[in-house]
Amino acid sequence: MKTFVMKQIGETAWIDKEKPEAGPRDAILRPIAIAPCTSDIHTVYEGGIGERQNLVLGHEAVGEVIEVGSKVEDFRSGDRVIVPAITPDWYNTDIQDNYHQHSNGMLFGFQFANLKDGVFSEYFHVNDADLNLAHLPDEISPEAAVMLTDMVTTGLHGAELADIEFGDSVAVIGIGPVGLMAIAGAKLRGASRLFGAGSREVCAEVASDFGMTDQINYKEVPISEQIDSLTYGKGVDATIIAGGDSDVLTTAVEITKPGGNISNINYFSIGESLPIPRLAWGNGMAHKTIKGGLCPGGRIRMERLANLVTTGRLNPEKLITHHYNKFEDIEEAFKLMKDKPRDLIKPVVTID
Ligand code: NDP
Ligand code: ZN
Repeated sequence: MKTFVMKQIGETAWIDKEKPEAGPRDAILRPIAIAPCTSDIHTVYEGGIGERQNLVLGHEAVGEVIEVGSKVEDFRSGDRVIVPAITPDWYNTDIQDNYHQHSNGMLFGFQFANLKDGVFSEYFHVNDADLNLAHLPDEISPEAAVMLTDMVTTGLHGAELADIEFGDSVAVIGIGPVGLMAIAGAKLRGASRLFGAGSREVCAEVASDFGMTDQINYKEVPISEQIDSLTYGKGVDATIIAGGDSDVLTTAVEITKPGGNISNINYFSIGESLPIPRLAWGNGMAHKTIKGGLCPGGRIRMERLANLVTTGRLNPEKLITHHYNKFEDIEEAFKLMKDKPRDLIKPVVTID
């Protein structure tokens, strides 16, 4: 079967691989909608998770079930399903005392295009199908649903980690597709003033639709100066980091009030350590909490996010700026994600 792979750090390629096989609890799917992620770009071009050779890329997919193992109960061949980017090993005992994202080891829920072949393939394998897959509701298009697998769950997790409360002022650093969903999540949780840092106009427009009240163009004046003047020196109750290099952590600590929360959903792909500014962190005593997390996966999470769409609370289709309609176009979509033209938020490839 045809697959789009990371050949090695810095290089992608098309290669033929054997079709995967299903164990008793697994499923084999064919993709019907796929999207590249900025994380794939960090992985290939910055070596963010180290060397990988001939590893199939991609972790955002909606698929059709082709085959299931003997112990799978709720899915059968022909079902259309949402496949979360994070597909933990639900039968590992770590599940009972850990975040599911880290069952069996730190970040081990991030299996696709990290620990095993991803979804940019004519067929792909999903472990623990009953616990990882969710049925695609008829009312949601495969294109919209593929946004749930990673962008929506990640952005909303940013708002969860920041523990946003009614009336909180919130800054979201980065308003690409992940930051946009963090804005949507902060609004759903009751944020009042919502600052969004980014320079792409196409993103700023959609950010306003999702609830941003003030755009911070970080290319014109540093974020900390702009927040300082807009909040009369007080800072914000919570900051969500969804873009930028490690300096944004410094900025986040600077702009967050004492007692406030900093939540990171960015993938820092370069450097050995991350800078925390001593004085802005109150010499370690400012009660500013920093949390960082991998997006939640699993079936129930996908079903709950799908409910947000079917009830009209969230429209993730607004993220999609570029549409493709054949499997091979994933190469072009991937290139777009690397180059980030100014009219891009997110590309999607649908496959008949
Ligand atoms: P994009 O590249 O589309 O967006 C990044 C945003 O950050 C843009 O708005 C960009 O502004 C802004 N930005 C860039 N540099 C700076 C800077 N120095 N200061 C402030 N803002 C800056 O990325 P995505 O939205 O696709 O992804 C965001 C991050 O989330 C990535 O690191 C990705 O790997 C990670 N991710 C993490 C997941 C998780 O589970 N935690 C899951 C999925 C993704 P501009 O408008 O100028 O482009
Ligand atoms: Zn991703």
